[in-house]
Amino acid sequence: MPPASPNARQLASDNYAGICPEALAAMQEANSGHAPGYGDDPWTTEAADLLRGLFETDCDVYFVFNGTAANSLALASLTRSYHSVLCHETAHVETDECGAPEFFSNGTKVLTMAGPEGKVTPAGVRHLVEKRSDIHYPKPKVVSVTQATEQGSVYTPAELRAVGATARDLGLRVHMDGARFANAVAALGCHPADLSWRAGVDVLCFGGTKNGMALGEAVVFFDRSLSAEFAYRCKQAGQLASKMRFLAAPWVGMLRDGAWLRHAARANAQARRLHHLLAAIPGATPRRSPQANSVFVDLPPGVADAVRARGWRFYDFIAGAGSRLMTAWDTTDADLEAFATDLRAALGAAIR
Ligand SMILES: *Cc1c(COP(=O)(O)O)cnc(C)c1O
Repeated sequence: MPPASPNARQLASDNYAGICPEALAAMQEANSGHAPGYGDDPWTTEAADLLRGLFETDCDVYFVFNGTAANSLALASLTRSYHSVLCHETAHVETDECGAPEFFSNGTKVLTMAGPEGKVTPAGVRHLVEKRSDIHYPKPKVVSVTQATEQGSVYTPAELRAVGATARDLGLRVHMDGARFANAVAALGCHPADLSWRAGVDVLCFGGTKNGMALGEAVVFFDRSLSAEFAYRCKQAGQLASKMRFLAAPWVGMLRDGAWLRHAARANAQARRLHHLLAAIPGATPRRSPQANSVFVDLPPGVADAVRARGWRFYDFIAGAGSRLMTAWDTTDADLEAFATDLRAALGAAIR
């Protein structure tokens, strides 16, 4: 049972991984002497400047502890209580945030649509907006897209521009849950601006945690008029770090030499490798080739649990999508081969 050791790597989520060396080294560097609290320190300034440089625009940046807060507070800043947020039915803001977007916006309703591969479509947005125009329907105000999606796909710049154009046409703002934005940029090989503000995204929640940091997400407002009083929202929600330098420094470590993109590209490459390994195992049916860092695979009844009994952890949390295997910045070839070996054994036992 290979992963029984506490140091073993898993394929359950990229948040099982530890802290990457660049983020850790930057935290160490920041850990010298005293610095002002609450973001008034040089690390926070530098991290925000690096993000402005990366996106090639004068955006307004805030650092918070986690993705649920980033998404919820960003959405709250775009809405009033009688508005609605339109998103895919498998979106994290709908399925995995315990109602936090509704809570922090004092009741803004999340309205969902279906769509291929976890993606929102212009037609889906238009349908949710135009199906009702009466006072009894929560007024659509924001489209929320996840990049990369919960189903492991990525929106191309053209797809994002189409959603952005439809949103603008209908008077809606665009929020992006970018918990895996780095993986999407690495997968598409395009400029981060082309996957965000140039495609019509008003606010991006840029994930640091799943990219290799201990914790932390950056809320990036491309339209600065939307961030008025955002600092108060963060404070009230318990998201204003008092020793902010330790939330900001890892961003400096990740951004200054491109580690964010290298780690994402590596995670993506390991997902492709895993897909290749699975495709060669009789009885395992991997879904389409991965675009980012997850692989979905269908296994015969009982086999997922038999693999788990060998010490592996992974989820089957999206109905009908099979088992999800997720690679991270530190996934090795040996990890993938060990998994494949255990899966073969479990399949062999199931067939016998
Ligand atoms: C992990 C994740 C988040 C952030 O989740 P937290 O646990 O709140 O940090 C947000 N969106 C997606 C799609 C995610 O996978």
